[in-house]
Amino acid sequence: MNYYFHVPFCASKCGYCAFYSLPGAGAQLMDAYLEQLERSFVPCGRAETVYIGGGTPTLLSEKQLERFFKLLHDRLEFEVGAEISCEGNPESLTQDKVSLLRENITRFSMGVQSFDPGVRANIGRRCSQQALEKAIELVQQARFPHWNMDLIFALPGQSDEAFFAGAERALLSGVDHISCYALTAEENALLKLPEDDDRASELLPRIVDFLSEKGFRRYEISNFAAPGGECRHNMNVWRGGLLYGAGPTACGFDGVDRWTCRELEEWLQGKEPEQDSISPGARLNEIFAVNLRTGAGWTPELWNRVPGGDSWENRCRIIKDVAAGLEKNWFIISEERIALTGDGMMFWNSVAGEIFDYGT
Ligand code: SF4
Repeated sequence: MNYYFHVPFCASKCGYCAFYSLPGAGAQLMDAYLEQLERSFVPCGRAETVYIGGGTPTLLSEKQLERFFKLLHDRLEFEVGAEISCEGNPESLTQDKVSLLRENITRFSMGVQSFDPGVRANIGRRCSQQALEKAIELVQQARFPHWNMDLIFALPGQSDEAFFAGAERALLSGVDHISCYALTAEENALLKLPEDDDRASELLPRIVDFLSEKGFRRYEISNFAAPGGECRHNMNVWRGGLLYGAGPTACGFDGVDRWTCRELEEWLQGKEPEQDSISPGARLNEIFAVNLRTGAGWTPELWNRVPGGDSWENRCRIIKDVAAGLEKNWFIISEERIALTGDGMMFWNSVAGEIFDYGT
């Protein structure tokens, strides 16, 4: 089983953020969150992966983090070699928190976004350069088995050179994973971005080349890893693996139904999650499309593991029909593998749109 815990609290709201996050929550609300988690979390199955995401999980105090990890280790049984990831922002890290994380997780993911303080200010990230450097030092010293940094490119006020200098800095820190993405204009985000900015699509191939020269393979549209650094949790979920979501707005999938936990207030009251109402066929199409974001795509063996999956032959038929209406050079289609080429990944949205609509 793959477990996802959503910790929705943030110090402030970043300008580009369209996620469910609660800026400025006090210690009392965070304690109430932990209490509800303790009341409601009943695991179902041994944990192959755990992902603690946010929000900003490291905004919890040391005591609260300790309580969180106690819950995790008291309730969960872990498979041998389980991956336990946690997200955190540099400004919220202390030596004690990093030590606690090191004892309890196998993979840390740091939301840096940009190494340029001016650019961070533009997008509403409050972290000072000093705090960033200090946090990197702490995490480096802790020697996590796996370590990711999030970086954004083609940001307002960010030169290409500044982005690549930041990527060099990330690599020097010893990360084995970089999540690298461009912002898209989000309706409910504070930061308004140009709708038709070509910069990101022009820059991306250079980023792919740059990181691949450094030994980082693009294994998913926005994710690059050194060998063995891929995030197992995400890989499992993209491939339709079972997911148990805990915490406000966390999603789950039990192999038949998908569900989403309520927002904080209702979740604290113990309201049942909302069931997703899509048909089994639409759900399969969605799983099929999502994993085409990965370079590996699908093999018959991977597809046969999808709960309630149809036949590989049917998937070959669907992808051929979809490809017939799109560019041929976007697809790799054979009896052994269905995947997108580098060009196809650039247009994943168009491919996914066709797959979502297929047969519905
Ligand atoms: S830290 Fe992350 S979740 Fe929180 S506001 Fe910023 S982008 Fe959103």
